Amino acid sequence: MATDFKCPHCANLLNVGQNIVFTARNKWGKEGLIMLHPEIGNYTVLKHPSFIVSEGEKLDFYCLYCNEQLLSDINDNLAKIIMSDEKGQECEIHFSRISGQHSTYKIIGGSVEIFGEDASSYLDLLNDVNP
Ligand SMILES: [Zn+2]
Repeated sequence: MATDFKCPHCANLLNVGQNIVFTARNKWGKEGLIMLHPEIGNYTVLKHPSFIVSEGEKLDFYCLYCNEQLLSDINDNLAKIIMSDEKGQECEIHFSRISGQHSTYKIIGGSVEIFGEDASSYLDLLNDVNP
């Protein structure tokens, strides 16, 4: 079983090949496809050049199937998806919605793994998860 990523709302798969695919909306209300790398901590972002996203801009991420926004319940600046690993074990992935900000949190039960050089931006939230 490979690692898969799912929508937390409808549980449909968001990954294909070496990409996790989302629809996103920028601050001007323009929508575009955004593809993120499935390796946690790899911040390669693919998008059409006409979909302009400025550094520091906060994006809205949506599921391609149910169109629900993929919001983290921990912090408004984070988006949330579900990861299912090789063993079929599921965990939550919370990642920054802010362009250029590299912070990702992998949460299983009460434990949190942090990734990215900007992860300390939201270290406060870890106290809420793991008191
Ligand atoms: Zn969905």
